[in-house]
This record gives sequence, C-alpha cells and structure tokens, in this order.
Amino acid sequence: MVLAPIGDGLFRIGASVPANYKGEINREFFNKLLNDRVPGNKILGNMNFCGIFNAHVRSASSYRVQNIFLVGDAAHVMSPSGAQGMNSGFQDAVNLGWKLAGVIRNEYDSSLLDSYSTERMNGINRTSKLSTFLANVSLYKKFPAIFARDFAFRFASRTGIVDRFLSPRIAQIDIPHGQLSEGIMKLESGRRIPLEWNKSTLSPHLSLIKHTIFFWPGDHYIYSEWEKYFESATKIITGAVLVNLSGKVLGLIKDLLPTHSACIIVRPDGFIIDLVDIDNISSNEAFNILNKKISQQPI
Ligand SMILES: Cc1cc2nc3c(=O)[nH]c(=O)nc-3n(C[C@H](O)[C@H](O)[C@H](O)COP(=O)(O)OP(=O)(O)OC[C@H]3O[C@@H](n4cnc5c(N)ncnc54)[C@H](O)[C@@H]3O)c2cc1C
Repeated sequence: MVLAPIGDGLFRIGASVPANYKGEINREFFNKLLNDRVPGNKILGNMNFCGIFNAHVRSASSYRVQNIFLVGDAAHVMSPSGAQGMNSGFQDAVNLGWKLAGVIRNEYDSSLLDSYSTERMNGINRTSKLSTFLANVSLYKKFPAIFARDFAFRFASRTGIVDRFLSPRIAQIDIPHGQLSEGIMKLESGRRIPLEWNKSTLSPHLSLIKHTIFFWPGDHYIYSEWEKYFESATKIITGAVLVNLSGKVLGLIKDLLPTHSACIIVRPDGFIIDLVDIDNISSNEAFNILNKKISQQPI
C-alpha cells in the first residue's frame, strides 16, 4: 500500500487489488485494505476520487507517420508507479513544439521532424523500464524482499543516492539521447543542460524559441578582451540567443564548465547540441563553426 502526500492534507492511496477480488472499489474497500495492511489505527478521511486500473506497458512502433504525430498516452503507456505518464507526455510536447514551430517558420528543414520519434522513443524506453522496475519492487510480497527493498531505499535516501541518481531520472532530466548512459552530469551533446527557461537570479536561463549559445570565458581571462569577443559574436551570430557567462551566477552548470573558454549550444528543449572549444581557434573560425552548428539539424 502506498501513501503519497499531495499537499493541503490530501493524500493519494495506492494499493494492489487481490487478483480474485470481484467487489466494488469504494470507500469500504479502501478502509478494509488500510486496516488489513497498515499498522496502527488508520481512518480514511473524505474520498474525492477512486478508481481501478491495469498497468500496461506499450509503445507505438513510430510516433510519426507523415504529418501525424503521436503525443502522450496515444503514443505510449506505462505503469503509473514512477508517476511518469503525464510527465512523458509533456516531454513529447517540449521535444516536438520547437521543431514544429521552426519548420513552420521555415527556420529548419522538415527532416528535423523525423528526430521527434527517434528521440522520444528512446526516452520512453528508458522511462518505462524505470517505471516497470519501480512497479515490480513496490509489489514485493515476501518479507525478506520487502525488508531488503525498504532498507536499500532508506540507505539510498539518507546517503543522497536518491537525490543524485533516482530523482533526476524521475524528473526526466537525466534521460539522455542515443546510447549515452544515465547518471552522468556532463555538458556534452545529447544530454540535457541543468538550466531552466524562467528568468532567475540564481542561474542563466534558456530561450524557449531559439537555440541558446552560452559563451564561457574559462577560469582565467582578460575581461576587456572577452567582452569585445562576445560583442563581435552578437553581430555575426544572429540565429540564436547569445548569453555571456562572464561574471554571472552559474547555478548548476558551475562545476560542469571546462577550465578553458568554450561555447555550449543548447536547443530550446534544453538538450545540448555541442560544446565547442574556442580556446585555440580564431574568432572568425569559432563564429563560423557556431553558425554552422545552429543551422545544421537534427543533431
Ligand atoms: C492511477 C494513475 C495514476 C497516475 N499518476 C500519474 C502521476 O502521478 N504523474 C504522471 O505524470 N502521470 C500519471 N499518470 C498517467 C497520466 O494520467 C497520463 O499519462 C496522462 O493523463 C495522459 O495524458 P494524455 O493527454 O496523453 O491522454 P489522456 O489523459 O488519456 O487524454 C486524452 C483525452 O482525449 C479524449 N478522447 C479520446 N478519444 C477521443 C475522440 N475520439 N475525440 C475526442 N476526444 C477524445 C479522452 O476522453 C481524454 O480526455 C497516472 C495514470 C494512472 C492511471
């Protein structure tokens, strides 16, 4: 039985229904489960909603056929155990939204739209594997397995393993593209940059409609020269939002940045296109590379 606080004194109670149960799923049924399965004297408060569902794990064989795109549960369903279903639908929308908008505005070639299905099917495979795993461990029936699971989870929670590895995957921040493995925080092509779109004083932010290029001067640099460099970049690179990281509060990317100067090109959905080392090349060469990278799609 799972008790999940939602806030304002509201809880979600989840329970596996015995396979041979034929009665109704109602308040009495939940009260009985509470008494049978949860130690102590528990009383069910007001019930706003209750329902029964079967957990399915399915995915369409492609999320795109010509001009038709499948998004959300129409494309994929998974066990609700990891609370990932709706989140995955949002990820679909975020992946597809900027591509569709860009193609409609003639900014990108329509072949960019093919990457929607490839990228999201990869994400969904990873996410539904995690959901299925969480569903399986939550349904352990034997005491030693339950004891080992609860002990492992408490240990992982107290030592920060949950925060470091499980939470980013459940939040779908750590679901990289292609063959990249999870659990690695790195600024590299195909990973998501740990930044948001909302303006904040705590970290730089991303553009929702264009690629963002973060200009990082490195740990040691001459301020006036760097400012000149950045200013000339803003005149030559016009297809992206340029952000100068010099003197900025860097938020979660602080420890991920290289010691030397570099540019990080990020898509509107937060995925990194590339980290371009600009330390040993001329400004013209660097701006050419950056211009090429933002016009070349998909990554
Ligand atoms: C018990 C349970 C708990 C869950 N908990 C979570 C959670 O904590 N976090 C999370 O992220 N996800 C959770 N999910 C998953 C989440 O509910 C779904 O992934 C999400 O609702 C899917 O949204 P959707 O818009 O893609 O599809 P739906 O919500 O299914 O919306 C589709 C809509 O289209 C309508 N429709 C269908 N056919 C037609 C038609 N022909 N014409 C017009 N309208 C039509 C339907 O009536 C429906 O309103 C949970 C799911 C379950 C079952």
